[in-house]
Amino acid sequence: AGTVVTFGEALVSVRSAGPLAIGSPLTMHAAGAELNVAVGLARLGHAASWGGVLGDDELGEFLLRSLAAERVDASRVRRDVLPTGVMFLEARTPDVSRVFYHRKGSAGAQLTPHDVDRLLDRDLAWLHLTGITPALSERARAAVLHAAETCRRRSVPFSVDVNFRSKLWSAPEAAEVLPRLIEGAEVVIGSPEELVLVAPEGKTVEAAAAELLSRGVGEVVAKLGAAGARAYTAQGVFTAPAFPVRAVDTVGAGDAFTAGYLSARLDGEDADGRLRRGNLLGAFAVGQLGDWEGLPRRDELGLLDLGQGETHR
Ligand code: ATP
Repeated sequence: AGTVVTFGEALVSVRSAGPLAIGSPLTMHAAGAELNVAVGLARLGHAASWGGVLGDDELGEFLLRSLAAERVDASRVRRDVLPTGVMFLEARTPDVSRVFYHRKGSAGAQLTPHDVDRLLDRDLAWLHLTGITPALSERARAAVLHAAETCRRRSVPFSVDVNFRSKLWSAPEAAEVLPRLIEGAEVVIGSPEELVLVAPEGKTVEAAAAELLSRGVGEVVAKLGAAGARAYTAQGVFTAPAFPVRAVDTVGAGDAFTAGYLSARLDGEDADGRLRRGNLLGAFAVGQLGDWEGLPRRDELGLLDLGQGETHR
């Protein structure tokens, strides 16, 4: 059936239980948008592979161990003398978190087109890319554009999560590169604002979606937070509500949604089924601490069908 491949920068996310400046207790987690998607797919039983460059250090070991534990293939990861990147997620108050990156000059940005060739040299079912990778460095930008070009040439379906990161580059820079990246993508996912950013003519999300579809994108999916999600396709527009859950930690919801949406797509589900599984994984992600720790295995997909507070016996 082939492997679903994704690549990008993986980071160690260090979460504090309180203010960083006073030395609050910390915990370590594996993070990175593409890593989150790979774990989400592997939990659902898909053959998933993550690629990228990790530091030849203890944090790189930790990330490899996390990927192995989640049955994500990482056999084509390259190690580099530069350090593995770190992000701190500081719980400054119970409701206000801050993110601090230590990722400049880290191994993850060293990805090259040659790394991509090694990663894609196999039976590929699907490739998932994000708009974070081209913002990391010149070579990472060349690598991810090369990956999309390889898919177009080999007729491998691929998806792009726009994932605009304003800390890494400006909106005008992103608007110059991302339309080239998503050309010919089977699925483009983003928030309404991100979809407008990648469609040069579109001023509203509807206009942006229509423009992308007319340029050959297969379908355009807007994540709407607690309002669920909407898919713009050649067959029409489909909307599905979010699952009612108590939001504990919204970080990673978008990646979880993407994993659910792609999983249903790989299973041949229709637009309603794809949106439903995307929303379902999004709900699992916001209902638990961590980016991907709470994501379901396939036999757990029905867990949220019971009412809130119910116990399965
Ligand atoms: P992030 O970048 O923080 O990972 P995002 O902005 O990319 O998130 P959102 O639109 O916030 O993505 O959320 C993605 C999906 O997660 C939504 O489409 C929805 O399915 C689910 N979701 C988000 N917030 C909630 C919520 N409060 N309740 C239920 N589901 C939610």
